[in-house]
This record gives sequence, C-alpha cells and structure tokens, in this order.
Amino acid sequence: MNEADSRHLASQLETIGFESTPEPDNADLVVLNTCVVRQQAENKIYGRLGSLKTAKERNPDLTIGLMGCMVGMKEAPTLKHRFPYVDVFMPPSDSAPLIDYLEHHHFLDDLKNQEETERSLRDTIQDAKNLLPIDQRGSAVTAFVPIVLGCSHACTFCIIPYRRGVERSRLPHDILTEIRTLVSQGVKEVMLLGQIVDRYGADLENHENLSRLLREIHAIDGLERIRFLTSHPNWMTDELLHTVGELEKVCPHIEIPVQAGNDEVLTNMRRGYTCKDYRLLIDKIRHIIPGAAINTDIIVGFPGESNAQFMDTYELVNDVEFDKIHISKYSMRPKTIATRKMDDNVTDKEKTERRNLIDEAQHEILERKNTSLLGDTLDVLVEHKKKGRWFGRTMHNKLVFFDDDRHVLGKTVRVKINKTSAYSLVGEPMN
Ligand code: SAH
Repeated sequence: MNEADSRHLASQLETIGFESTPEPDNADLVVLNTCVVRQQAENKIYGRLGSLKTAKERNPDLTIGLMGCMVGMKEAPTLKHRFPYVDVFMPPSDSAPLIDYLEHHHFLDDLKNQEETERSLRDTIQDAKNLLPIDQRGSAVTAFVPIVLGCSHACTFCIIPYRRGVERSRLPHDILTEIRTLVSQGVKEVMLLGQIVDRYGADLENHENLSRLLREIHAIDGLERIRFLTSHPNWMTDELLHTVGELEKVCPHIEIPVQAGNDEVLTNMRRGYTCKDYRLLIDKIRHIIPGAAINTDIIVGFPGESNAQFMDTYELVNDVEFDKIHISKYSMRPKTIATRKMDDNVTDKEKTERRNLIDEAQHEILERKNTSLLGDTLDVLVEHKKKGRWFGRTMHNKLVFFDDDRHVLGKTVRVKINKTSAYSLVGEPMN
C-alpha cells in the first residue's frame, strides 16, 4: 500500500516540476512514507527522522514531509510537537497536505510558466495522466493498485484501522482508468490491494464485488496478469474462487492470513472464524482452483498464547503446506484492544523460538514443493535484472532466475527449471 502511495506521490511531484535525486543531501524535498504495523517498523522511522534532522541542520531550506500510518488520521499535532523539523504531515494515501503546503509556500513559482500561474498545483495534478514516476515508465512490469482503503474490522492486535481510517472501496471506474494508464506506461501485472480485499464493494452501491471488478479488469487489453491481496477468510466467496479459477489472467494465488491455528487465540484476536472453518476453506480453495498457491500471515506470541496453543498453529502449518508464510512476533501497538486489555506475557525469547520453529518447518515444506518442479517448464513474467540475471514470477508466484542474452524485461519467457531451493528456482529459457 505504501509502495503504491509513494509511487503515486513521486509521479505527482514530477508532474508539477520536481525531479528525483538519488542523493538525499541534494534534495529540496524529502518525503518519508511510514509503516507502524509493528514496533520494529516504527523504530526504523525514528532512525530515518534522526538523519533528516541532521540534513536539515546542514540545509535549512530542506522541506521534510512525513506520510503514512505514523501520521494516521489524527496523529499530526502530536508528531509536530515531537518532530518540529518536519514541515508537513500526510495521512496514508493522501498527498493533498503536501501539495497545498508547496502551493502555500510558493515553492514552485519559478518553475511555473505564465499560463500555469493561474492554475493551482492541485488542478495540474488532477489533469495529469501519469501514474508512474519517470524512472519507472517502461521498466515497471508490475504495479500495486489500492482498491480498498482503510479497514473497519477491529482485530485486537492491529493498528491499521486506527491509522488508515474506515473501509472505503474505490469506484470501479477510477480503478479501471488507473490500470489502463499503468498498462499504457508498460505495466503488465497489477496487484490489487486492500486490508480485506475480498470485501471490495461492500460499502458501494450496485452490488459491486471483487468478482465483477476482476472481470472488468480482465478485459483490459495489454494487461497480462492480475493478483489481489489480502483476503480475509470470512469474505472469501465461492463466486470469487470460481472467478479466479475461470479467468485466465487472474493468478491462482490466494493470500489468506490465518494469524493463529488455535481457536482460543483466534477468539482473543477477534478474527471471526475457527481453525476448522479455515481448514475447510483451504480445502475448498484447492478444490475450485487446483494447484492454487496459498500464502498466509501468522502472528506468534499473541498475549496468553501457551506453548500448546502455539503447537496447534505449528500443526496447521505442517498440514496445510502453505506456499509462503509471513511470520511476525506479536508486537504491542498503541490503542489496540490487545494492548489495552491483554498482557504481552510471551517473552521475546519464546516468540523468537516459535517463529524459528515455523520457519524451519516451512523451509522443509518449500524445499520439497520446489524440488517437485525440477525439469518443469514454467511461464515467467520477467520483472527485473539483478547481478546480470533476469528474474520474474510464475502465475503461482514462484520466483525464477535465468540467464538470457536477449532483452526480456516485461516478456513472458518459458523457463525450464534445473535448480531449486526453498525460496527460488533457477532455469534456462526455452526458445
Ligand atoms: N489486513 C490483513 C493484514 C494486514 S497487516 C489481515 O486482515 O490479515 C499485515 C500483517 O501484519 C498481519 O497479517 C499480521 O500478521 C501482522 N501484524 C499486524 N499487527 C501486528 C502486531 N500487532 N504484531 C505482530 N504482527 C502484526
């Protein structure tokens, strides 16, 4: 979500006359986009803010913007007090405060020509058709597209609803226009984003839902692949699964966080399903979309999680054999129900041990799964070149590396797999 917001802001700034620089010391404006989902992410921001403070002491003309979940919907006044050297604060997905600040401070007056002087920066941005910053045009093969902003499902551990506001689905027209523009600038694959992406449309009229939206996006010429994340188990409908199974461009790849494999922990998290519900849903996904890649998120060491309860999660991981797991150690977040009402009583050492146990189990599962792909030929959409080697993903989201003398960025290349590890595949292109 933040990557999409940053990219969008960068292209807006270019539209009104800014150029990017790789050297923060040369910048007139630095915007820090922030994530506070865990304490660790928040700590990184403090480090960065410290360096920006020093940069501003060297160059008092530097304008500093802080954006995203640290600012949230209402933290700006407190933050201004704590970080007086920050000039402007922006909530997630909202560049307006910065654009207004630049206007107000006549930041760009010398860049505007006579005709433009009459138009506000907001109008100039509104009319612009660019959604990718210059350095990504023609080279960005995949792009994130937020379709649901905010979240209204109060999981007890999660700060997101407090910082990103209530759930708001974007209108289909706006999403389709954005994707057409991205495709015209070279994008081949979109990742549709929402905290509970399978609730898309629940707050809109006309019975909009994700299945209908996927069908409309599917019809866009030039777009080759569509993915979406994150799905909440309770909103995953048969209709949506059948749509994924049926539409060629929609990747058979479902991101569906379970968070824990024990019913009491799930109740304390207020996730709204039982472990059995989740297992049945996984069976259904695999029945409707055979071979689907299924990814999940897990939190270890939630308040009160006993070792036996953790072992239920461990068992689930071994039974389901996910294709990818994002594991987090529980982290207390301000204002959440878990922080206010529960005791963070699992020690960091225990959390680390639990995380490592799942990591090890998952490593073995993936080694086994990937070994079974040896000798297969897979279609890889090439995203990048790294250390002289092309890489991209399969429809099932497997990362594949290969050597090729041709320029194959953005192309789909058939690659024969001849080496595998738990986290990636290596192969050679077939003619
Ligand atoms: N909306 C998604 C998750 C978004 S946050 C969902 O409903 O599942 C991304 C992930 O961060 C979560 O899935 C969770 O695993 C992790 N996370 C969120 N809050 C956390 C916390 N307080 N401590 C540790 N991990 C957390």
